[in-house]
Amino acid sequence: MAEKFDIIVIGVGSMGAAACYELLRRDPSRRVLGLEQFEIPNARGSHHGYCRAFRTAYFEHPDYVALLRSALNLWREIEAETQTKLLHLAGGLYMGRPESALVRDSIRAARLHNLPHALLSRAELASRFPQFCVEGDAVGFFEEQAGYVRCEKAVQAYATAARQRGAELHEFECVQFWRAGPSGAHVTTDRDTYEADQLLITAGPWAGRLLAELGVELRVTRQVAAWLRPAAAEPFASERFPVWGIDPGADGRPCGIWYGFPLTPETPGLKIAHHWPGQPCDPQTVDRVATPEDVAPLGEAMRRYVPEGHGDLVNAQVCLYANSPDGHFIIDRHPDPSMHDRVTIACGFSGHGFKFVSVVGKALAEIVLEGRSSEPIDFLGLARFAHQT
Ligand SMILES: Cc1cc2nc3c(=O)[nH]c(=O)nc-3n(C[C@H](O)[C@H](O)[C@H](O)COP(=O)(O)OP(=O)(O)OC[C@H]3O[C@@H](n4cnc5c(N)ncnc54)[C@H](O)[C@@H]3O)c2cc1C
Repeated sequence: MAEKFDIIVIGVGSMGAAACYELLRRDPSRRVLGLEQFEIPNARGSHHGYCRAFRTAYFEHPDYVALLRSALNLWREIEAETQTKLLHLAGGLYMGRPESALVRDSIRAARLHNLPHALLSRAELASRFPQFCVEGDAVGFFEEQAGYVRCEKAVQAYATAARQRGAELHEFECVQFWRAGPSGAHVTTDRDTYEADQLLITAGPWAGRLLAELGVELRVTRQVAAWLRPAAAEPFASERFPVWGIDPGADGRPCGIWYGFPLTPETPGLKIAHHWPGQPCDPQTVDRVATPEDVAPLGEAMRRYVPEGHGDLVNAQVCLYANSPDGHFIIDRHPDPSMHDRVTIACGFSGHGFKFVSVVGKALAEIVLEGRSSEPIDFLGLARFAHQT
């Protein structure tokens, strides 16, 4: 007979680990099972690579700012519970032409939400942050409430805290099939079958396989990050060198953002990546080895924008984005009326979800336990795709 749980979480990566913890924090009496196909954390989905940028003046959409305020408090809470430093805030610097999306819309979010920030002319940029080399009429936007989250450590911390609060987390157990209806939810894995009252699907790049019936395209792309060792470490320590982004777009044409991090104790060099959907891929068959062709543009960007940061390649990793059609997250109940009250979905984090892990975990736990979240997440619902399905 299938073992019975109150809640089953499919995928214990970024969002799933935080949700398992938040479910038990809110209601310790629930039996929670988390099913993860690999180890927790792992380097095959979206949450590896040591660090993720945290920003508050959110250029992607100002509605995320309220969520980021909650996220910040919740990061501090999980840090306190696990005695692990996860979020380092030493400032964020975003550069580009005044009309670039990164600069223009960071300013818009900061003004709308009264976020402390400083605008830097090209000359101010050069004197305050001489490590950067920007072009033409580029300017800078600096905010102190930015920095980085240690991503694998965060997933580990949430999973450990969830287990300590009573969650059963199974590693190396892959969900092959699920169904839900008025009588409950049923999950079949490569090892067993389970039943539950509630199902939460947080499968990252594999969500498209488990949620094909939604009819919403979740395009998985192959993303490469590289780490280069600068000749001198000192100028790139976090006290001096912020998390940064450069939008080289002209004429408002989006072309992605080059971004990077300061040196951190666990990163073997200066990390650089390109925030822009890479090659479409299948998470089952993707080539997980970064090639010289993958790394060359990252080295060129470092040489161009942070010349003294360029140095020997010390690491390169392939990671996956799971892109929603509009680049915004999908957090909602399943739209099918027969399973609406039993199945919750969080996917399509489109390469910018990690900083929100703490608040998404909370929002998901609230939806599962209470039917709705106290966080302002309506703009992330499936209704926005209704005309497409
Ligand atoms: C290179 C790169 C850089 C990024 N930079 C940033 C950044 O600077 N700032 C930021 O905020 N965000 C960033 N992101 C995005 C962020 O990391 C993701 O949005 C976030 O990790 C997505 O979390 P997730 O839970 O959806 O996916 P994941 O963390 O991948 O978790 C999904 C989990 O589900 C498991 N799973 C899937 N299917 C099954 C199944 N059938 N059975 C059992 N388990 C299953 C997977 O194995 C995986 O562990 C970046 C992403 C990448 C790839």
